[in-house]
Amino acid sequence: MQIQPNDIVFVLNPNAGNTLRPRQLSAICHAACSQAGHNAYVVTTRTPAEAADAACLAHEAGAAAIFGCGGDGTLSAILQGLPNGSPIALGAVPLGTANVWAYETNLPNTPLAAIAAQLAALDGVHGETMWLDTGRVWSTNPDGSVASQRFLLMASWGLDAAAVSGIVGSERRSRMKRVLGEPAYFLSAVREALGRRAWPISLSLDGAAPFTVDAAMLTIGNTRMLGTWLEVNPRATAIDGELDLLLVEGAPWRALALSPFARYGWLPQGPGVTNMRFRHLEIAPLRDAPPMQIDGDPGPATSYAIDIEPQALRALCPAPTSEVLGG
Ligand SMILES: [Mg+2]
Repeated sequence: MQIQPNDIVFVLNPNAGNTLRPRQLSAICHAACSQAGHNAYVVTTRTPAEAADAACLAHEAGAAAIFGCGGDGTLSAILQGLPNGSPIALGAVPLGTANVWAYETNLPNTPLAAIAAQLAALDGVHGETMWLDTGRVWSTNPDGSVASQRFLLMASWGLDAAAVSGIVGSERRSRMKRVLGEPAYFLSAVREALGRRAWPISLSLDGAAPFTVDAAMLTIGNTRMLGTWLEVNPRATAIDGELDLLLVEGAPWRALALSPFARYGWLPQGPGVTNMRFRHLEIAPLRDAPPMQIDGDPGPATSYAIDIEPQALRALCPAPTSEVLGG
């Protein structure tokens, strides 16, 4: 069977941190669609590339919406398969470790309620579909060719990126993530901060002259939150045509020391802590650094520029009053 026009496509990630079996989840997807008068098409994908392929097929078939059933990584994988400006609407069934997108947009927690609320937005019964900005990270492949990756939430560089890479690169820390969930990222950051020096980096925003800083961390947010704990870009909205940058200068432990403040939305501004906005950022590490973090997973090691893509993604927004959607 193939995807039909106006289908609601569900991409199931069986590796996400949820306890539902694919068969149970598939039954929920079909039930929620049937209740709302839609046809569900459910596909289980094992890798990000398979999820991106499914998104591409759904777009080409003229599906009405595509739901990522998993964590933010599943949404990111789908995003890679959608062309900028695709009319297909993105939805989420939050079943991952952190579910930052669901947190930012106030989605219901249970799969059935989340799907029902987003289908109501699709049908204009309650909520709406909105055109949102996405970010794009540019990098160079080992063979010299140019590659790019889109992001929905946030990219980061420095300490947070080192913490994410540390989890992926260590079986012990991966196990900790499965057991502890989101706090495992903080513990990984503590481990990475110990004894580390700042990373010298050159930055240029919107074509201005480049400047060099010793950076502990950069977060580049389409949205506000790093995980669901840390509000690092408090004024970020995904509809303003700009990305929000937090720059923390100094040794990595300084970024760690700010986390209790970011936890409660009290991030101080002043020497060494700066929030800025941009549409185009050029970035050049002046010493070896960990690969970037993009939507919760390690990104390319050699990224050199980041762009905003204004109003590039149609998304299902049952609570358009959420701060990140400009409400
Ligand atoms: Mg923005």
